[in-house]
Amino acid sequence: MTTTVITGIGELVTNDPARTEQGGLLGLVHDAAVVVEGSRIAWVGPAAEAPAADVHVDAGGRAVIPGFVDSHSHLVFAGDRSGEFEARMTGEPYSAGGIRTTVAATRAASDEQLTSHVARLVAEMRAQGTTTVEIKSGYGLSVHDEARSLAVARQFTDETTFLGAHVVPSGITPEDYVDLVTGPMLAAAAPHARWIDVFCEDGAFDVDQARTILAAGSDSGLRGRLHANQLTYGGGVRLACELSLVAVDHCTFLSDLDVESLSDSGTIATLLPGVEFSTRQPYPDARRLLDAGVRVALASDCNPGSCFTSSMALCIALAVREMRMSPAEALHAATATGAGALGRDDVGVLAPGKAADLVLLDAPSHVHLAYRPGVPLVAGVWQAGRPVV
Ligand SMILES: [Zn+2]
Repeated sequence: MTTTVITGIGELVTNDPARTEQGGLLGLVHDAAVVVEGSRIAWVGPAAEAPAADVHVDAGGRAVIPGFVDSHSHLVFAGDRSGEFEARMTGEPYSAGGIRTTVAATRAASDEQLTSHVARLVAEMRAQGTTTVEIKSGYGLSVHDEARSLAVARQFTDETTFLGAHVVPSGITPEDYVDLVTGPMLAAAAPHARWIDVFCEDGAFDVDQARTILAAGSDSGLRGRLHANQLTYGGGVRLACELSLVAVDHCTFLSDLDVESLSDSGTIATLLPGVEFSTRQPYPDARRLLDAGVRVALASDCNPGSCFTSSMALCIALAVREMRMSPAEALHAATATGAGALGRDDVGVLAPGKAADLVLLDAPSHVHLAYRPGVPLVAGVWQAGRPVV
């Protein structure tokens, strides 16, 4: 198996819990080296002690971080909604109903069109340092179109999520649609999915419907996650905590009881600040969550309606500048805790035995991700040990 040693790493972010005493939350190592063997990390430590390898790469004093883990995206869709964005920026509010526009375009697209569109977006993410991505369905909303959306997503990631319960499509009552989602649609989707998700919100699905849908998913072997408390206060976050879901996403409008439930349950709160940026909504209060001991992840929510960015670096910059997270907290949330939000501990951490998913930054420190917003800083990406950028 080929080995590669990367030396001259001015600052290495490991996220290794064994290194936090000296290296802080990010387990930083200065003047570091990393050895990659096949698809895994074989060795991490001071460059002066690095073992020899077949291939040598010099990082030239720049920083290396784990690849971003984007635990929330909606990449399987067709059509363009820039007109809706423009209207929103000139005064119209965001509503969940805009999803139906994308549903019509997605149903009309061929499998090949959907596949090439996802391929383009995944490549766009990879070029910006994302090495693990979760992809949801949710723009098909029929048995056939949800199953094929997941079959397309499955070609790009193991982290696929059935989101038939995104919004109730036209021409069916909410009661009949929940029966469809938990019956034939779930049966067709389950072979292609690892997760099941519900948009639990006014205008989408209420807490009782979400509970029913998650229970049916669980019976089919899918693990649950939720979109909750994005647009209003409600019971979605508490439902996620009650069910001990691994993550609940958005968490913008939270009561004290919601925060307490998150901290007691250990359910990760995944914040999606690109959405608030793109819809001019108030940002979630990350500081309040972190101070209460809640585990916080950051993800893009890349989707055509409420947030069409694929940049995890933008999410970090927003989290630091608008949500009072420290640069270290934001990067940790976009890597190690993002992995936790997918129930994973093999990615988001650079330590022996973990996946060799690394990003070389054209910067001396990870702080530049927030310090230089909007600037492309990714100088190289290794995914499962292979240089891909
Ligand atoms: Zn979403």
